[in-house]
Amino acid sequence: MKVLSLHKPGDIRFEDAPMPEPGEGEVLLKVMACGVCSSDEARIFKDGAHIMPIVPGHEFCGQVVKTGAGVDESLIGRKASVFPMLPCFECPSCKRGDYATCSNYKYYGSRNDGGMGEYRAIKAWNLNLLDDSVDYCVGALSEPSAVGHHATEVGGVKAGDKVFVIGSGTIGLLIGFFAQAKGAEVWIGARRKESNDFAASLGFKTIDTNNTEDEVAKATDGNGMDVVFEAVGSNKCLIEAIGSVTAGGTLVTVGNPVGDMNLPRDVYWRILRKQLTVRGTWNSSYSDKANDWHEVAALMKEKKIPFEKLITRKYKLSQCDEAFDFFRDHSIQKSRVMFVMHEKESEAYNG
Ligand SMILES: [Zn+2]
Ligand SMILES: [Zn+2]
Repeated sequence: MKVLSLHKPGDIRFEDAPMPEPGEGEVLLKVMACGVCSSDEARIFKDGAHIMPIVPGHEFCGQVVKTGAGVDESLIGRKASVFPMLPCFECPSCKRGDYATCSNYKYYGSRNDGGMGEYRAIKAWNLNLLDDSVDYCVGALSEPSAVGHHATEVGGVKAGDKVFVIGSGTIGLLIGFFAQAKGAEVWIGARRKESNDFAASLGFKTIDTNNTEDEVAKATDGNGMDVVFEAVGSNKCLIEAIGSVTAGGTLVTVGNPVGDMNLPRDVYWRILRKQLTVRGTWNSSYSDKANDWHEVAALMKEKKIPFEKLITRKYKLSQCDEAFDFFRDHSIQKSRVMFVMHEKESEAYNG
């Protein structure tokens, strides 16, 4: 079978690999689609992974074609995405079912081989079953969707709220979708006109974040937003986010920080004086008590949210150089770039 294999930072190859065999508690997943995440860009081209060579990709979806020992054979033929984290099940977080904060985890795509290959043996526990009607590429958006859904839950968004998402990346737009689905009024904020135009094409109101304060004041009669998501990870956006929240409102920090986060004293004062709730969000819930993955699967089945509009281009694994060149060109407005395998290859980009 074919995979993309990362040998060292900047050295990713389309090559042959042995067909995986599902072990005890595992299934063999025929991978049909795998998204490229911005964390993959850093992993593949700059930092490398925890082990190398490795098959990257943690946003994938496929069909169960074989089961290992101790696994229900009725899973064969089912469509599923994959919760990529392999928690230890022993640390205090795991004992509470809070797997996202596990202190000793493994991960498909960064610590174990992931989804950028034609097949992958996966723990049955990690399968997130999808309805047959869900497109594989939409299914491959399960991971960023679960992350966005989790952030929306952490923010406590409710009907009638004015919600402002700073950042128009895939997660930011997904937060917008989920907040809208809860009945909130949603603004997406970006600096680039093409990004705001794209957000507007998805039905969002937009804010030009070259001029955040004035635009937020205009949009809210000077009152500010009920819930603000900082989905960029920049110091400037964090400061603007604090300035955009209404008194008693909530700020959710979502974006991975690109550098140090420092607050001028007058900005820090605003957290106190406005009695803001500041909440961090990380990954997604995947347990019996809360499960963003199951909720996302239900929303994908329902088809009211246009997930498919977040797929910018699809490439075959053999087109990986072209795909990564496109992905790394930050002058182009895009959401998810996706690798497609098997029958899905007919949908691949061809110039
Ligand atoms: Zn990701
Ligand atoms: Zn753990």
